[in-house]
Amino acid sequence: MDPTQATPTTDFIRDIIDEHNRTGRFNQRVATRFPPEPNGYLHIGHAKSVCLNFGIATQYGGTCNLRMDDTDPAGETMEYVESILRDVRWLGFDWEDRLFYASDYYERLYQYAVQLIKMGKAYVCSLSAEEIRKYRGTLTEPGKESPYRNRSAEENLDLFQRMRAGEFEEGAHVLRAKIDMASPNITLRDPVIFRIKKEPHYRTGNQWLIYPMYDFAHCLSDSIERITHSICTLEFENNRPLYDWFLDELGVKDHPQQIEFARLNLSYTILSKRRLIELVQRKCVSGWDDPRMPTVAGLRRRGYTPAAIRDFCARIGVAKNDSIVDVALLENCVREDLNAAAPRVMAVLRPLRLVIDNYPEGRVEEFDCPYHPQNPGMGSRKVPFSRVLYIEQEDFMEIPPKKFFRLAPGREVRLRYGYFIKCVNAIKDPKTGNAVEVHCTYDPATRSGFAPDGRKVDATIHWVSADHSLPAEVRLYDRLFKVPNPMEGGDDFLKHLNPKSLEVAKNCRVETSLAKAEPASRYQFERTGYFCADSVDSAPGKLVFNRTATLRDSWAKAAEKGKK
Ligand code: ATP
Ligand code: MG
Repeated sequence: MDPTQATPTTDFIRDIIDEHNRTGRFNQRVATRFPPEPNGYLHIGHAKSVCLNFGIATQYGGTCNLRMDDTDPAGETMEYVESILRDVRWLGFDWEDRLFYASDYYERLYQYAVQLIKMGKAYVCSLSAEEIRKYRGTLTEPGKESPYRNRSAEENLDLFQRMRAGEFEEGAHVLRAKIDMASPNITLRDPVIFRIKKEPHYRTGNQWLIYPMYDFAHCLSDSIERITHSICTLEFENNRPLYDWFLDELGVKDHPQQIEFARLNLSYTILSKRRLIELVQRKCVSGWDDPRMPTVAGLRRRGYTPAAIRDFCARIGVAKNDSIVDVALLENCVREDLNAAAPRVMAVLRPLRLVIDNYPEGRVEEFDCPYHPQNPGMGSRKVPFSRVLYIEQEDFMEIPPKKFFRLAPGREVRLRYGYFIKCVNAIKDPKTGNAVEVHCTYDPATRSGFAPDGRKVDATIHWVSADHSLPAEVRLYDRLFKVPNPMEGGDDFLKHLNPKSLEVAKNCRVETSLAKAEPASRYQFERTGYFCADSVDSAPGKLVFNRTATLRDSWAKAAEKGKK
């Protein structure tokens, strides 16, 4: 799918843009941006914002910038920048030559601050951070003015210049906007706009010793880039008057409209960079791209397609109130996409040897198996069949309970694409009592998968030939958290980790057509789920597959039964 051809949708943000276009507020121009801070990898929530901003630009024939909102040296790195570029591109979006960095605007932001000081609209405050907090007041009480609030413009300019020159320690002074300490909106109570931070920045190194605060940098960066619609998440609603105040006071030429929408919350998932970093640092996962992570890199390694993620973002839409989206919807989007696109192959995850007693030794037949039952265009491959096969352990039961229709002594089933086989007996491990080898006979007349006498079987099972299959490791991923809201009960979210989020099946057997499975290539393993070759660890001769999704939502079923 070409994302630039996404079906035009409508929502309250697009309504606002339509209205602006009608009144000519921005001369019919539509310019958006996606502004991540490079202090972590992008997650599915960011993907929602990427799809929204780039999607709107495309729909209205406008532009969408990619801007690193890198105004805090702590935690920002080039590795994160590179991961963001890779992920946005992989999602299918193109910023062309419009990659920007807020850190490139430091000098201009400094000059804007100087302008505010000269206008008597900003001052250097020498209260401690603790005192500033106390003076700020509460929702019910007005704040108190700083004793430094009425410093002269000359004194402020001098101090601010010396802050920049590095004459003071961190926390000794800050630059604050002079707005209104009694404002019912706490954001407007003389917010800090520049602070001293003697930490090297991943791009500007030691060039700067003061850094602009987010609220100040963000609106001005938008204005510098001539953004028309500055779309952000709901928690910035109270910051909008401040956004407008800076732009109005400074009299900038371009004054974007900030519009807030509800951020994505997903059940069974954590979408906070701080907590995702914790999962990585504590090694609860193998890294940012662990296939259980809700990061774009994790979803990619898990086998998600960009189309599935875009489809998910389109389906959830945008709204003005917070809600929690069921993670099953995301899983369903990838299922639907792969159901249409993934070739079918056979793989046995927990092999049980099966010998067909009446099949000639040394004989090998090749079955022509279509890659997709509904799509002959995908072609077919030859799958070798012989006397000794592997089937799934769970497809055989010595003493089958009611409703178990697969293989059991005396029972006949169909082998996918092949013959009917009938179980004669099973050889058991004397120690464990588990079946280690099942013996069957086959009916040569059922090669087509049907019996000429019309008799029916209740089950079809998949298989591979023992001598004509390849070993593989299969990583069975599941949800990382076992409860719908992992943040329930506060910061102790690690106790909700799902101990079964990864099961490694090391002795799997897959059909030979997978010998050259390309890293990241996707398949449906018949009857088992959707899988992809791991992009990091899989190689010819050492195949590793990741489970992207089960065929059906096992969590919904388990919830019904009160399990899991
Ligand atoms: P966190 O709160 O986890 O640290 P953040 O929102 O600070 O993340 P940014 O890098 O600042 O991370 O986000 C870049 C953009 O993505 C912002 O415009 C932000 O509004 C948007 N965004 C972040 N999280 C979500 C989410 N869960 N749903 C929708 N948009 C999001
Ligand atoms: Mg942020």
